[in-house]
Amino acid sequence: MNFDILAFGTHPDDIELCVGGILIKASKAGQKVGVVDLTQGELGSRGDEKIRNKEAILAKEILGIKIRENLSLGDGKLYDNYQNRFIVADTIRKYKPKIILAPFEKDRHPDHVAASMIIEKANFDARLKKLESDYPPHATNQILFYLTHEYYSPTLIVDISEVFFEKMRAIKAYDSQFCAPISSEECTPIGISNYIFHIESRMRFYGSLINVNYGEPLISKYPLKIINLMRLFS
Ligand SMILES: [Zn+2]
Repeated sequence: MNFDILAFGTHPDDIELCVGGILIKASKAGQKVGVVDLTQGELGSRGDEKIRNKEAILAKEILGIKIRENLSLGDGKLYDNYQNRFIVADTIRKYKPKIILAPFEKDRHPDHVAASMIIEKANFDARLKKLESDYPPHATNQILFYLTHEYYSPTLIVDISEVFFEKMRAIKAYDSQFCAPISSEECTPIGISNYIFHIESRMRFYGSLINVNYGEPLISKYPLKIINLMRLFS
């Protein structure tokens, strides 16, 4: 499979909200990008598994990614245990990514915290020769963490200004989450709906830190191995 980037989301739509721009840019540059959602978001107040699955498929087309898989580990029942680590490690072996994107461990949502721990430990387990698996061991080059709700100083910020509107389209694919007819909210244009406004504000804030219009932040817990310093900024 040999993917360039494998992005793990806890719930469908997390990926679009947090790293949608990064994935769209990478896909456009010809990189092989995949998304793995850990749960179906079935505990969410709005929509249900069926609806959210349809929305995730629609968003996949907008992101331009090669695959999107859902591991269905249970929304609200996500724990860092051996079974979940094994399932995620097996998935990492299957797709052989160079870079893994995962939620940062410090977050207000318990599922995001659990997901972060599961993915980081599974990334370690994926390289173990004696782990029973249908796939050979695989070592990723880098695991980077994205911020969901909280602020922590990022290691790097990716300029997503050129794909900002596509990212917003991918977010709006989740009609049930942002324009749910069962609530008293109305489906409002992008930038006016409160939540969407907050998301846009976050991207503007991170963009302002690197003097661009919109940015998505990433954190590395480990020193980054850089071969060519100039290519980092090209
Ligand atoms: Zn989430």
